[in-house]
Amino acid sequence: MASKIFSRLYTSSSLARNAQITNGFIGAIGNTPLIRLNRLSEETGSEILAKAEFMNPGGSVKDRAALFVVKDAEEKGLIKPGGTVVEGTAGNTGIGLAHVCRAKGYKCVIYMPNTQSQEKIDLLRMLGAEVYPVPAVAFDNPQNYNHQAARHAESLDNAVWTNQFDNTANRRAHIETTGPEIWAQTEGKVDGFTCATGTGGTLAGIARYLKEKKGDDVKVYLADPPGSVLHSYFQTGGKLFERSGSSITEGIGQGRVTDNLKPDVGIIDGSFTIPDEDSIKMLYRLLDEEGIYVGASSALNVVAAVELAKKLGKGKTITTILCDGAYRYQSRLFSKLK
Ligand code: PMP
Repeated sequence: MASKIFSRLYTSSSLARNAQITNGFIGAIGNTPLIRLNRLSEETGSEILAKAEFMNPGGSVKDRAALFVVKDAEEKGLIKPGGTVVEGTAGNTGIGLAHVCRAKGYKCVIYMPNTQSQEKIDLLRMLGAEVYPVPAVAFDNPQNYNHQAARHAESLDNAVWTNQFDNTANRRAHIETTGPEIWAQTEGKVDGFTCATGTGGTLAGIARYLKEKKGDDVKVYLADPPGSVLHSYFQTGGKLFERSGSSITEGIGQGRVTDNLKPDVGIIDGSFTIPDEDSIKMLYRLLDEEGIYVGASSALNVVAAVELAKKLGKGKTITTILCDGAYRYQSRLFSKLK
């Protein structure tokens, strides 16, 4: 049953949600619905609300960061008309950038670890990006996809490496858009937020906005997949960077504290580590019970939202992110299809 507080906010009408014409592709980024996960809300006795970032025009939460890093490069004079945007990405930022570059008339070059789904590579090429899948090696290796992207940009005239991991224009996208949207959609009645991190832009930006609004009355938790070091980092107060296991999730998990996360490490209240088994079970629950077809990082986020609901007690409002749709992972994640 929907809580009274929110009952007047619930709408099944897309007209009420987005009644204007947007200025091109870029104008359609953001203002995504906040979906009440009905079964999980009933089960936990809290409102479990998930931001439908898969409804961005490029299909993921990373459309927001892509737009902000390109605007930042333009404002700083780092790129001129006809120039080239180069980025290292697990795929979604690249897809966002490829769309934004098409819309703005730039070329787009993408380096990504060759462990990522074929669907993302195919889509990037369809969008006209030049794509280099490279061996997945650690950040301290000069052959890491980010360093290769940086060198590629340096080798060209009128080109910029947008550096999403350490370029804080990324987190600004969430301070200026996603955070305020969650605040407005919940009328400020949000008690908890949790999500996983890749660059950390989403978590840090939303944490920053919500904490500025509500301080300790909103709890923000990081959700980590196996193989990421951040959970151990948070559990040990920054002393340990312990990595154990690996994960089927894509686009999340981190081996270091990026510049996007660094300014907000102190305001994160805690962290969860979520086993892949739980994320995969949730992936199917979201599909079968809620009718929501999303990727594994979204499912992990929802598992974490349920954990946070348990931690904070009944009657709370917990928010999280549905980062992207499942179509990008169909061949890998959905054995039902085979
Ligand atoms: N989920 C998916 C599927 C992603 O591609 C990403 C970004 N790599 C994230 C979550 C994490 O977002 P952020 O980079 O803002 O931490």
